Amino acid sequence: MRNKHATQLIFELSTTGRNGVVLPECDVPTRDVDQLVPASLLQSDCPPLPEVTEPEVIRHFTNLSTLNMSVDTHFYPLGSCTMKYNPKRNERIAGWDGFAQLHPYQSESSLQGMLRLLSELQQMLGEISGLPAVSLQPAAGAHGELAALMVASAFFKQRGENRTKVLAPDSAHGTNPASARMAGFDFITIRSQADGRVDLEHLKENLGDETAVFMITNPSTLGLFDDQVQRIADLVHEVGGLIYLDGANMNAILGVTRPGDFGADMMHYNPHKTFSGPHGGGGPGAGPICVTETLRPYLPSPTVSFCNESKTYYLDEGSEDSIGRVRSFFGNVGVLVRAYCYIRTHGPDGLKRVSETAVLNANYLLSRVKEFLDIPHGDRCMHEFVASAAPVKEATGLKQPAMDIAKRLLDYGFHPPTVYFPLTVPEGLMMEPTETESKQTLDAFADTLRTIVQETAETLHHAPHTTIIRRPDEVMAARKPMVKWTENAD
Ligand SMILES: *Cc1c(COP(=O)(O)O)cnc(C)c1O
Repeated sequence: MRNKHATQLIFELSTTGRNGVVLPECDVPTRDVDQLVPASLLQSDCPPLPEVTEPEVIRHFTNLSTLNMSVDTHFYPLGSCTMKYNPKRNERIAGWDGFAQLHPYQSESSLQGMLRLLSELQQMLGEISGLPAVSLQPAAGAHGELAALMVASAFFKQRGENRTKVLAPDSAHGTNPASARMAGFDFITIRSQADGRVDLEHLKENLGDETAVFMITNPSTLGLFDDQVQRIADLVHEVGGLIYLDGANMNAILGVTRPGDFGADMMHYNPHKTFSGPHGGGGPGAGPICVTETLRPYLPSPTVSFCNESKTYYLDEGSEDSIGRVRSFFGNVGVLVRAYCYIRTHGPDGLKRVSETAVLNANYLLSRVKEFLDIPHGDRCMHEFVASAAPVKEATGLKQPAMDIAKRLLDYGFHPPTVYFPLTVPEGLMMEPTETESKQTLDAFADTLRTIVQETAETLHHAPHTTIIRRPDEVMAARKPMVKWTENAD
């Protein structure tokens, strides 16, 4: 049983008059608050704060912190999100005063260390991607997509071309169409073939002089590397369009191949996926973008440059064609410092091994999972793969077996994989083990999945059985979040 504390709100632990701190006697003259603040601004009643002891506070929040699964507590094969281990050393380094206590309004001369780090990161990201012009500003992958599409828009405008359409395959992440629309483009979905690769005929039918950008995730969210990518790039370039590479899956190809070499003109990285930054909760992500030299003038500004004469780093406002700022200051620097540490720690050969190991782990897990679930897209994958629980639907009559299996995994201490994405796979379970997991962990996960798919429909459908919250109404939770405590809430 979980500690009862963790099931209660801290307000419910409150006992009138209880106290966690003892303040020393005030040693300066005091005045009543109504002499200092106008009465109209004063509350008549004290705020209903919980009255609890110090140990109660500590236990309450420590117990709460264990209710969620995390990379540090559980195997977390959430496909497409790359939930890899966050090295604690990088956390420590990012917290050093020399980084954490800097202020963006300091003079450039007193920020030389940070500017050098950012400049080197720009260079490394440019080299890894084969796209040399880099902006670190965007605050997440989706924001990188938007910024790059704004770059494309500025580029076409400069050339006097009215290109209104952005295209992406049906396996694309939802952020692709969203970014396209936000950047003012119309969005067209291109079909995938049964083998998961882009349907070239459908693509050709939709290419023309209105084509602005084709967005491709390669490897795709199905965990497949589309080997037609060079051909796709040629087709899009022939009609004057640009190729955008959604780089969320760079974990599969670091040091193996480069988007710039297979035809991409622009891309984003997700440092919180590929370069081990912590996701959410612990803070923001980042979404650096890399583009060709041709597109460099349009990048968000400022970028970081080095002045050869004065031997100093400085913030470069760039050309007057720049789309300008897309975020305040230099971007989410804390995440960028972690990415820098990760890249420097591994070096070129190490990064290649990261990807090779991630791909090996995914293929090992695939080979185990295919013993009892469908794998619609073949026997080999890149860093992730999508299994289908459709056979379980037939065997049990369950309506949403992928969801039931995901919930049941919680009982066994595993974070579930991504479910029902991409929509092209029925009852999809998208698994991404990452490079940091051992064979024992992968075996334990596969063995558990095998056990689960043999359980009764009744057991599956009512899972999870051991968690405090079982099946929250996710729609209601999103539409009508209850963020305020009230005395009589039930
Ligand atoms: C995660 C992801 C994104 C969006 O990145 P965020 O950093 O979450 O905004 C875009 N595309 C793909 C394929 C992704 O997996």
